Amino acid sequence: MELHIREIETKNVITKTDIPVCDYAVNPYVGCTHGCRYCYASFMKRFTNHPEDWGTFLDVKYWPEIRRPETYAGRELFFGTVTDPYLPQEETYRRTRALLEQLKGSGVKISIQTKSDLVLRDVDLLRSFPDARVGFSINTLDEGFRADMDRAVSVERRLSAMKALHDAGIRTTCFISPIFPGITNVPAIIDRVKEQCQLVWLENLNLRGSFQSVILAYVRETHPELVPLYDEIYKKKNRVYWEALDAELRAYAAREGLFYVRDDDSMLRPFDAPPAIVNYFYHEEVKKSAKNCVKAER
Ligand code: SF4
Repeated sequence: MELHIREIETKNVITKTDIPVCDYAVNPYVGCTHGCRYCYASFMKRFTNHPEDWGTFLDVKYWPEIRRPETYAGRELFFGTVTDPYLPQEETYRRTRALLEQLKGSGVKISIQTKSDLVLRDVDLLRSFPDARVGFSINTLDEGFRADMDRAVSVERRLSAMKALHDAGIRTTCFISPIFPGITNVPAIIDRVKEQCQLVWLENLNLRGSFQSVILAYVRETHPELVPLYDEIYKKKNRVYWEALDAELRAYAAREGLFYVRDDDSMLRPFDAPPAIVNYFYHEEVKKSAKNCVKAER
């Protein structure tokens, strides 16, 4: 696969956002070479004039020096709403690291979302921020399904990186997203991570736009027995599956002594408390807000 990489200058890399979990969004790259088949961020191609297929291009951003980083003190910055800040190319370009270095000592709170263990390179830097959090996207324990869906590192490497950060005293999140009906085994994933994270974030698979046909074709080919279920959910818009899963997970959490909550309150709990599970099914704001970020940077 040919990768198109170019270096670009942007006016700004920190953009105000109305995403519920943060005040500002940060995306040091345009595009994402993990190339997930279900990527909602692929809509960005329309705004950034990229004719290439999603996952085959990457713009490396260079921004003016952040003046007065201390103005972000106490605010929440989220790295990676429409890209992964620790793509393999970060090893070369180090743009995520550059921004962390520019913000060091400012008192800003940072959350990082990734599918990579390259984040371990920056552990010392991350520890210098108050309340830093690192989230790993894991929606399966099946490496075959994972490899069918993305080009990021293996599930085992993500789990190991999460544990290493946890052991280093950095708060971690397991982002179980997107949950594929009939494929993603949510309790099995939580069982694997509950000793090494403070937060489990749940998001259902939404099928809109160009990747709907790609995912439905994949299900037809690999899990034909699930076709009626996917038709029910994605063609007839029936929410019964999600309501049943919500009830099942609520009961699971009660049995396991975990917190099943509507809003993330995990930062208020001690580091060693069992994780809070936040059900974020059916949100529309994230995509809308991410789109606004893209526009604001240009
Ligand atoms: S890691 Fe996230 S932004 Fe990157 S392709 Fe996958 S879903 Fe999209």
